[in-house]
Amino acid sequence: MEYFLSEEQKIIKKLAKRISDEYVSKVAIKYDKEGIFPRDILDLLAYTELTGVYIPKEYGGFGGGVMEMCLVVEELSRNCAGVAVSYAATALGAYPIILYGKEEQKKKYLPKIAKGELIAAFALTESDAGSDVSSIKTTAEKKGDYYILNGSKHWITNGGEADVYVVFAVTDKSKGPRGISAFIVEKGYEGFYCGKKEDKMGIRASSTTELIFEDCKVPKENLLGREGTGFIVAMKTFDRTRPGVAAMAVGIAQGAYEYAIRYAKERVQFGQPLSSFQAIQHMLADMYINIEAARAMLYSTCRMIDSGAKDFSKESSACKVFASDVAMKVTTDAVQIMGGNGYVKDYPVEKMMRDAKVTQIFEGANQIQRNIIASEIIKEY
Ligand SMILES: Cc1cc2nc3c(=O)[nH]c(=O)nc-3n(C[C@H](O)[C@H](O)[C@H](O)COP(=O)(O)OP(=O)(O)OC[C@H]3O[C@@H](n4cnc5c(N)ncnc54)[C@H](O)[C@@H]3O)c2cc1C
Repeated sequence: MEYFLSEEQKIIKKLAKRISDEYVSKVAIKYDKEGIFPRDILDLLAYTELTGVYIPKEYGGFGGGVMEMCLVVEELSRNCAGVAVSYAATALGAYPIILYGKEEQKKKYLPKIAKGELIAAFALTESDAGSDVSSIKTTAEKKGDYYILNGSKHWITNGGEADVYVVFAVTDKSKGPRGISAFIVEKGYEGFYCGKKEDKMGIRASSTTELIFEDCKVPKENLLGREGTGFIVAMKTFDRTRPGVAAMAVGIAQGAYEYAIRYAKERVQFGQPLSSFQAIQHMLADMYINIEAARAMLYSTCRMIDSGAKDFSKESSACKVFASDVAMKVTTDAVQIMGGNGYVKDYPVEKMMRDAKVTQIFEGANQIQRNIIASEIIKEY
């Protein structure tokens, strides 16, 4: 399919594809099995300047947008979504600074993130506040030149590996969601520790940990936006990063589909390759149809966002839901096409099926996305 990418976008996609095929494919199974964080691949992405594709030019980046970020995520995910999410989580941590950072904050962090010298993370979720993010309990109390953070965060991607964390905490309990604020917390700040590392079903190359704040001293100039705007910071960031989850899903699905076709052409049963059976052909055809539809929706959402449109929550949620459901279906069918071989770790598709599952859960589970879409469409008509 021709997606009418610009010449620069084609170059970015081609470069990311090359890194994915030549390097990520070689380490995907090992890193998944042993839970190895892909620092070497992130270094390679930094060396090739792909770490800065979505960062504005004035802060040392390429000056692209959500589309460029998604093209890199999609290509990395074709071989390993665990590697891709380690890259994408830095974008999740960087976007609040791009959108709401003060000039000094942007100058301090974005050029280093663009160069790959800093890895970022985004810390909103808590053990009792997942879908219901407005019920977070971590507190930030202003004392002199500092905010003192107390509490803990769960499920934080790049936890322990990141240098910069955008952390959400309650500054005024009486105001509900309007009492939440966002802070930039650096690794090494007094009172900031990394807790348990999760032993996950999929995306095992990525690091997911607890974060603990015990009287953690955060300089007052690290407040992001104004006090009380944290909920908006989080939601506006998600609007731009949920397409990243969709890109991950499209990439996983594409990887599984490509593998399944090659396998179906080689594997002979009843004297014929599997690809000659209509039941298998129809599964492959459905994979193609669904992946192309998901990619078309993803790219048009990215274009809408990067065009400067004001409101795109519905579109962003819709592409995340559709692509993640497609990834789950396509990877499950790829396992089916490969029979017993699909079900064992000697082949990559069982990993792809495990990796696909999380795209339906994180950055807001698909049920929550459907709630967002429904409330928008009901308002519209
Ligand atoms: C691998 C991984 C990485 C993550 N990385 C990060 C990160 O970097 N930063 C971060 O802040 N968070 C992160 N998260 C957290 C993630 O965003 C949450 O797991 C997700 O939002 C769901 O929250 P929960 O797990 O608490 O599920 P719950 O909120 O307990 O929901 C459980 C189920 O109930 C459904 N449900 C809940 N409420 C409703 C409702 N009102 N209507 C219908 N259904 C509902 C949900 O859709 C879900 O299926 C990560 C999670 C995982 C698994």
